[in-house]
Amino acid sequence: MSKVVEKFLKYVSYSTKSNEESTTVPSTEGQMILARELVAELKSMGIQKASVDDNGYVMATIPSNIGKPVPTIGFIAHMDTAPDMSGENVKPKFIENYDGKDIILNEEKNIILSPMDFPELKNYIGKTLITTDGTTLLGADDKAGVAEIMAAAEYLMENPQIQHGIVRIGFTPDEEVGRGADLFDVKKFDADFAYTMDGGTIGELEYENFNAAGVKVYIHGRNVHPGSAKGKMIHSTLIANEFMNYLPRNETPSTTEGYEGFYHLTKINGEVEETKLQYIIRDFDSENFENRKTLIKNIVDKLNDKYGKDTVEIELVDQYFNMKEKIEPVKHIVDTAFLAMKEVGVNPIMVPIRGGTDGARLSFMGLPTPNIFTGGQNFHGKYEFVPTYAMEKAVDVIVKIVQLYTVK
Ligand SMILES: [Zn+2]
Repeated sequence: MSKVVEKFLKYVSYSTKSNEESTTVPSTEGQMILARELVAELKSMGIQKASVDDNGYVMATIPSNIGKPVPTIGFIAHMDTAPDMSGENVKPKFIENYDGKDIILNEEKNIILSPMDFPELKNYIGKTLITTDGTTLLGADDKAGVAEIMAAAEYLMENPQIQHGIVRIGFTPDEEVGRGADLFDVKKFDADFAYTMDGGTIGELEYENFNAAGVKVYIHGRNVHPGSAKGKMIHSTLIANEFMNYLPRNETPSTTEGYEGFYHLTKINGEVEETKLQYIIRDFDSENFENRKTLIKNIVDKLNDKYGKDTVEIELVDQYFNMKEKIEPVKHIVDTAFLAMKEVGVNPIMVPIRGGTDGARLSFMGLPTPNIFTGGQNFHGKYEFVPTYAMEKAVDVIVKIVQLYTVK
């Protein structure tokens, strides 16, 4: 069994599900336990500069072994798993020499991982897959990333003939509840740029993501007995309906893909007196993104003109931005990752992320951070799986990126 697979199996045995409700940092104790374990393991590899801070952020340094100055490169993964499903008592199953047919994850509960539902399985015929037993998630998001960085670190430490500059390692808590970058000390990390190992399918290389905003719409009505309501009742839910109708119908998550943006109604709560709508707004293009926000404001003005001042109120907040503008000035970091993949026999797939990443936020905090595949698939649920060769290739990619920067 390869080192990366061994490490992966070890890390998924730690329960590190993050918790949105929690006010502690990290949000759950399990993450701190894994963090301490990772530090101990880094030290046992001979990496002296390895520590975890009070917030659960692990940072470590592999010192340079060459005389000339080369960029300091960071590799980052998150230790927590998604709150959507249990990550406790994970029992990974090995499917060797996968035959392309249904995989019975759990006979008793009749849970089947089928190429009918997940056609990408067909890409892994003949490979070894690690799946769940159908009762938990696997935790490849992002323990595959953690294992890949750890295995690459170990490889570099054991093979001093491979020349490299300073390599920085960062493991973060609470990515899945959106707090992974919150307390990341970019100054302390002190890298010129970094990569998150947090993507999916083998070959994925991402440096574009959505611009994102959230908006809460409060609509105030006036309730009157329906028998004598003529000209008096203001029905907030009906106004909400008007609001929704002003938004373009074909710009929703279920009608868009690729670089297309959307408005997504995530919640509606209403009665005559008051209705609350919650939307998220997403767009890759910053100008379109602003236009979307303007459209929302214009609709509010229109409805307030019609129904009276302050009938509709909104709270609009920007959530994160497309990292592209921060990556483009240092585009060589994407080009090098692309080349590294090619050199280790992986076909790079450049796709825009229809979401955000911690790397996007770190990019705006001064650390340009594109995202690289982990190899995992079907994140956040019981159908999660990871081909072992994809994890092994991710390790190769990390080592190759480091090497490519020494010959530049
Ligand atoms: Zn992740």
